[in-house]
Amino acid sequence: MRSTQKTLALWFFLVIMAVFLFQAYESKHTKMIGDFNYSKFTEAVKANEVATVTFRQDSSEIVGEMKPEFDKKYSGTHFSIIGNVQDEGFKFLEQHGITPNYERADNGGFFQSLIVNWLPLILIVAMFLFIMRQIQAGGGKAMSFGKSRARLLTEHKNRVTFKEVAGVDEAKEDLQEIVSFLKDPKKYTKLGGRIPKGVLLVGSPGTGKTLLARAVAGEAGVPFFTISGSDFVEMFVGVGASRVRDLFEQGKKNAPCLIFIDEIDAVGRHRGAGMGGGHDEREQTLNQLLVEMDGFESSEGVIMIAATNRPDVLDPALLRPGRFDRRVIVNKPDLKGREQILGVHTRKTPLGPDVDVSKIARGTPGFSGADLENLVNEAALVAARTDKKYLEAEDFEKAKDKVTMGAERRSMVISDEDKKVTAYHEAGHTLVNRKLSGLDPIHKVTIIPRGMALGVTQTLPEKESVSLSKTTAENMIVFLFGGRAAEEVVFKDITTGAGNDIERATSIARRMVCEWGMSKLGPLAFEKSGSEPFLGMQYGHSGHKEYSESKAEEIDAEVSKIINTGYAQAVQILTDHKTALESLALALLEYETIDGHEVDMLINGAAVSEIEKYRNNRRESFNAIAAAREKKDGNDPVGNSGPVTV
Ligand code: ADP
Ligand code: ZN
Repeated sequence: MRSTQKTLALWFFLVIMAVFLFQAYESKHTKMIGDFNYSKFTEAVKANEVATVTFRQDSSEIVGEMKPEFDKKYSGTHFSIIGNVQDEGFKFLEQHGITPNYERADNGGFFQSLIVNWLPLILIVAMFLFIMRQIQAGGGKAMSFGKSRARLLTEHKNRVTFKEVAGVDEAKEDLQEIVSFLKDPKKYTKLGGRIPKGVLLVGSPGTGKTLLARAVAGEAGVPFFTISGSDFVEMFVGVGASRVRDLFEQGKKNAPCLIFIDEIDAVGRHRGAGMGGGHDEREQTLNQLLVEMDGFESSEGVIMIAATNRPDVLDPALLRPGRFDRRVIVNKPDLKGREQILGVHTRKTPLGPDVDVSKIARGTPGFSGADLENLVNEAALVAARTDKKYLEAEDFEKAKDKVTMGAERRSMVISDEDKKVTAYHEAGHTLVNRKLSGLDPIHKVTIIPRGMALGVTQTLPEKESVSLSKTTAENMIVFLFGGRAAEEVVFKDITTGAGNDIERATSIARRMVCEWGMSKLGPLAFEKSGSEPFLGMQYGHSGHKEYSESKAEEIDAEVSKIINTGYAQAVQILTDHKTALESLALALLEYETIDGHEVDMLINGAAVSEIEKYRNNRRESFNAIAAAREKKDGNDPVGNSGPVTV
């Protein structure tokens, strides 16, 4: 590109120079005679002083040259006058031995005319060529729109295997087959089998779909191409389709290999549907994808894996046999899965002796693999901030709170009065929880404000429950009212702090009546469960009631009854155990946070001061274990041998 510019500049310079030189030459050799006219011309002809005469018809000019010897006389050699010559004029000239020339146009020099007439055009053409060349040269960019953006990750770089993917055993089993297809396609085609071309991984974000796909490639030892569905969708028409073509070309060149399309719903949405009308460009891209998928044979060893969390919006054509006809569901990990995933991600982090991975797993229901990885990372950051050698249980605790509830708001100014109310409120929840059966035990209680909440009472599920008994549902309502009840019992006044508790309690009560058939109205479903409308479908159905007005009144009455009974029970429990309530609240005001064990100590009658002792003992035994471990393992403190209860 640079050299083109230089060459052009050089040519430009040369042309300009030529013009100047020519003009200089001409002006030197054509010295015009000043003050010349027709009569002087005839005089000169008569005197035989003129050498040549030329008629310029177009400009009605007579130009000519004097004989050199008269140079001095006229102080010039050339002349030019306006005039036309008739027949007599010719005769007159011929009489004096001059044969006049004719010229149709000013031919004052080939170069001059060339420059005057053609230079602008030449320059324009040159500029045009120059711009064209620049576009082409600079535009690897401009011309490579249609190239796919697929990134190739080969097995040498960051190879991932199934070992690194934990807690999704079913999905791994399903994909095992794909691994063996990729390893040895012939084994299957020999018997006339058709190797699947595409696998659709379905699961919510962060469940490890990308990781699984990479692991498949890693296990089979084949190249891994990854591209996101949104990479196909561009502003420019036709780009998506040509990217698809390029992707498949690349794939075939590198066969056997695995092509992974993340977020396929970006291109694979139902054609002709969707909000805001059709999207031609996207449809073209999808069509191209379908065509390409039909066009290649997986016996060539190219297998596609696509990921989505919205299989319901995909175009059915994409899921037809011969395309993405296999579906592998990647669920959010269950308790055991979470424990395994935490195991994978804590492999390289030194864990303190008080870290119980299974307990962390219990406290993180609903976390995806990515969430858990993030949790470990946050914990490592928290530990590093205080220059720790290990990640301790409290670091995980802080990390979890930060991830789930937002950062602590220690700077928030809270009056002593508010603090006291919060302490009793949380103590109320806690005490009610401990006095009822079927509820998850208390994990910790805190009055440090966090996110929207002034205080938090956290429970820790012991197992993953899939169903709920009527007694447990009722007890949950009592537990939720524990906070409000404590305010009433202690202060004889109530605050707004229970808003969220009331909302949740009401929701449970309503579902007991309307969904679960847990009231005297019997096992009737009054509301469809799980009919959450999502964009584009089932719109405008909410608010539709499938029961009569009188039934509605009965429902409301039942809900109220459950709520009122629950609240009364909470008040009763707290009135009966007011001493324990006091001591829990005082401990909270003193320490701000207390854990489940400390809660039990206090309820069993321990004094607030005994907590200090308990904490010191725990710290000491922690240090002892850590020291012993360090001694044993030398300098490597990463002895993640399993949980140690202290
Ligand atoms: P998705 O593609 O489903 O959105 P990713 O595969 O990108 O999720 O997961 C993001 C990260 O979360 C992974 O790089 C991995 O570190 C972690 N992760 C997710 N699921 C698992 C799992 N089952 N086992 C181990 N790590 C996981
Ligand atoms: Zn509350």
